[in-house]
Amino acid sequence: TEEKSLHFIEQIIEDSLESGFPQDKLRFRFPPEPNGYLHIGHAKSICLNFGLGLRYNAPVNLRFDDTNPAKEEQEYVDAIKEDLIWLGFNWAEERYASDYFQQLYDWAIVMIKKGKAYVDSQSSDDMAIQKGTPTQPGVDGPYRNRSVEENLELFEGMKNGNFPEGSHVLRAKIDMTSTNMLMRDPLMYRVLHRHHHRTGNDWKIYPMYDYAHGESDYIEQISHSICTLEFVMHRELYNWFLDQIYVENKVRPHQYEFARLNLNYTVMSKRKLLQLVQENIVNGWDDPRMPTISGLRRRGYTAASIRKFCDIIGVAKRENVIDVSLLEFCLREDLNKTAPRVMAVLDPIKLVIINYPEEKEEWLEAENNQEDESAGYRKVPFSRELYIEREDFLEEAPAKFFRLSIGKEVRLKNAYIIRGESVVKDANGTITEIHVTYDEDSRSGSGSESSQRKVAGTLHWVSIKHAIEAEVRLYDRLFIDEAPDSHKEKNFLDFMNASSLQIAKGFVEPSLKYVKSGDKFQFQRLGYFNVDKDSSTEKLVFNRTVGLKDAWEE
Ligand code: ATP
Ligand code: MG
Ligand code: MG
Repeated sequence: TEEKSLHFIEQIIEDSLESGFPQDKLRFRFPPEPNGYLHIGHAKSICLNFGLGLRYNAPVNLRFDDTNPAKEEQEYVDAIKEDLIWLGFNWAEERYASDYFQQLYDWAIVMIKKGKAYVDSQSSDDMAIQKGTPTQPGVDGPYRNRSVEENLELFEGMKNGNFPEGSHVLRAKIDMTSTNMLMRDPLMYRVLHRHHHRTGNDWKIYPMYDYAHGESDYIEQISHSICTLEFVMHRELYNWFLDQIYVENKVRPHQYEFARLNLNYTVMSKRKLLQLVQENIVNGWDDPRMPTISGLRRRGYTAASIRKFCDIIGVAKRENVIDVSLLEFCLREDLNKTAPRVMAVLDPIKLVIINYPEEKEEWLEAENNQEDESAGYRKVPFSRELYIEREDFLEEAPAKFFRLSIGKEVRLKNAYIIRGESVVKDANGTITEIHVTYDEDSRSGSGSESSQRKVAGTLHWVSIKHAIEAEVRLYDRLFIDEAPDSHKEKNFLDFMNASSLQIAKGFVEPSLKYVKSGDKFQFQRLGYFNVDKDSSTEKLVFNRTVGLKDAWEE
């Protein structure tokens, strides 16, 4: 088997191992903020970090970056863990930035004492003005040279809840003229009188992401802290905060940036996904149209197909947009190998075999998956009255119509060759029944001469008296625009696909009676379908996962 070439982060690690970094000190983390569900973009980061863990036999922590109590909830923590396990990854330790609040506070005190941090008591507007612009240096504010004693006293007061929100902040004292705006005395702490999902009401101040993140990496002794490209400019600050606390002989974390995953025909910002949920535009975070891991799972995606997708897109430093059809391709490839084939009719029309005995029924042998010999065979019932798809019949058909029409022959999958004879219509002229005759000697697999006959097409069908009714949810892309959140004049909600969900009343073969949520099938000639969590033996519900071909390509 050929070895895939190393991506740039693996190359960096190989280089540091070669120059003496001990392999047993390698340590990675995946650091979600529990303010929403994981999406396919997170999967890229997950596969990257946990992939490195597997490759180098190194621990990977799951760190919840829970420093903003206003937006974080236990529900999200639980969902993130469930999704990670489902994707097939095991974390070494479950950690929380909030576990480090005391340590972070203590380090902030050290920094105040060293003259590296100060309390600013201005309005955020005033601070913003002093900060300058990318082309204009900032200026020092009036509180920048507060005494250490005053800073310590005010910071303690902030911590103890003596001050309202917005009254004071703690800032790092770096350089108001730095060319990097983020280095112009960035905030370290703000006052927030909020309940935190883990620390309750213990804290009245909360650390900012930039301060908490690197120090948390240091506490956990993460060697390679991998984030997306938006954080390139933050690296200088990441390093500055580490400089303030680093003790020799400890692992000093380094930040590396890679290009985030962008996918067309969707949005991936958690804020926007939350909006879709809150405004009931979708039915929850796990709506099968959502790009969330739980949505993809409910849609019928397999974990293997998502991991394969992440593998194919790779890890690089250049931003690009991946076509969602690549994700669908990975899924089809996987389901083609694993999904049993069954027959279902989603837009039924009645077909009567006029020369087949009224009371007769046969149980015909059908192959479960021609791609997988071990999948075996099952029996499907055949009788005089069947359903076929309405679109598989035309009274008068053009020459290239390889389906059923009057006077033409087709094969019924796993069964017999039939010939169109006549139709029954209602008062409006709509066809209500198709009458056909069958060739009794043509049964599939019988070995007879007739069974080998070549006819123009093969149709799927179900026996009316044996079929089970099912709700089939036909999902399509949620947005009609390739980049719904890229328009200056318009909101992403202006690009919703009005027909992203259509509900069909279909009929499935009786072997599907006892399916369970999450079972996956290929409905022959129609696509791949997943049993929804709403399904029960009394009322079957299937989700269309993906068609057999890329319908958007045609
Ligand atoms: P949002 O901005 O929508 O809230 P986020 O990036 O802030 O998303 P986090 O929970 O902080 O979400 O992300 C956890 C990890 O997943 C981070 O390391 C982040 O870089 C990574 N990540 C998030 N989105 C993507 C993406 N589209 N592609 C690759 N990695 C991503
Ligand atoms: Mg984030
Ligand atoms: Mg974010």
